Amino acid sequence: MEKQKNIGNPYKKIDITEDIDLQNIIKKYKIKPETNSDTSFWHVGHECFKFKSKIKDLFFLRGNFERSLENQLFKQASNAGMETIFSTKIKIKNNKILLDNKKIDSEIIIGADGADSIVTKYCFPNEKIKIIEGYGQSYTDLNIPVGETHVFFEQNIMPGGYVYTGRTQTLGTIVIGGRNRPDIKYFNKIKKSNFKINKFIGKRRGTEIWGKGIISNIKKRVYGNMILVGDAARVADPLFLYGVRPALISGDYAVKTIIEHLENGKNLEQYDTLLKNKLIQDYYLSKVARNTLEKTNQKDIEFIIKNLDYIDKTIGLDGISEKPKDVIKTIMLLFVKSPYSTTKLGYKVIQSLFEAL
Ligand SMILES: Cc1cc2nc3c(=O)[nH]c(=O)nc-3n(C[C@H](O)[C@H](O)[C@H](O)COP(=O)(O)OP(=O)(O)OC[C@H]3O[C@@H](n4cnc5c(N)ncnc54)[C@H](O)[C@@H]3O)c2cc1C
Repeated sequence: MEKQKNIGNPYKKIDITEDIDLQNIIKKYKIKPETNSDTSFWHVGHECFKFKSKIKDLFFLRGNFERSLENQLFKQASNAGMETIFSTKIKIKNNKILLDNKKIDSEIIIGADGADSIVTKYCFPNEKIKIIEGYGQSYTDLNIPVGETHVFFEQNIMPGGYVYTGRTQTLGTIVIGGRNRPDIKYFNKIKKSNFKINKFIGKRRGTEIWGKGIISNIKKRVYGNMILVGDAARVADPLFLYGVRPALISGDYAVKTIIEHLENGKNLEQYDTLLKNKLIQDYYLSKVARNTLEKTNQKDIEFIIKNLDYIDKTIGLDGISEKPKDVIKTIMLLFVKSPYSTTKLGYKVIQSLFEAL
């Protein structure tokens, strides 16, 4: 069931996502990213850290056209026998999920209806959410080399926000994400004040992108015969709204769980266990990072970016979030170098840790 007339995100854009545990899924579902890259640039004020990672970033096209990620997946599913009913909006009325005013009667319901999910609202009506909004523009080209990712922090203009850019051969996208309703005014303000972003865009006019990401307190993604997937399952990264990787991984786990349920009678709740082992731990750490970003000022971020090169050369930044010991080592290294700034920042991190619990 799809509420739109056709397949595809209403906004043409590039979604960039880390290639962690995606290779098997890419092979299995025969999907192809537009390009990939191992180099990202992290900017704050005049500071810039160039990060060459062992983990690649994959660039997926999104939108209503041939090569988009959703179209590639849709074709595979249709070839395998999926029937799609377009222009059909599901609703909740009198505590029932309805389709064209008729109750849905199905053995299993998969809620993959995005950030504003009706199925999630039905399963978890008391969910507490925090919204991160996104505004951006896409261009047929930008003055950035293909495959480079640039991230900017502008805490004085947009506290807790960020600007994210990426470009493939055919499309470039610049997105602002943040808590205080980013829009074209913010976009132009940031473009005017930041000469690097200004240089990337030049005099071009892009097509607009709007959207949001949800940070949630739900602990389960299965309710009775309903399974939540992707943004509806609240697995997108709370820091930068990265949602493609968790959507693909949760979708794949939902397929596995449903097959085992139908063929061997296994409980649907094993889906929650699979997610816990793969995505939920990262989700919690990223929630801490988001809370910290919202507490820091431009100086704090300058301090972090200035020291990233040193940390990368000493410990290595790849996969640091998966190794709690390395996070502690990093804090100790920074403390020896700059005790005052590290203590100030450490206090904000500890506060954020408790808030994320
Ligand atoms: C501005 C912005 C930038 C982003 N950048 C990135 C990025 O760089 N990298 C990244 O990995 N992620 C990014 N994301 C997140 C990413 O786009 C999402 O996480 C991803 O699309 C989630 O996929 P999904 O299938 O769960 O949901 P969606 O892609 O939202 O799909 C949900 C589908 O359900 C349909 N639907 C919704 N409600 C109903 C209803 N009531 N009835 C019937 N159908 C319904 C919709 O029409 C849609 O087709 C960004 C998000 C935003 C907003």
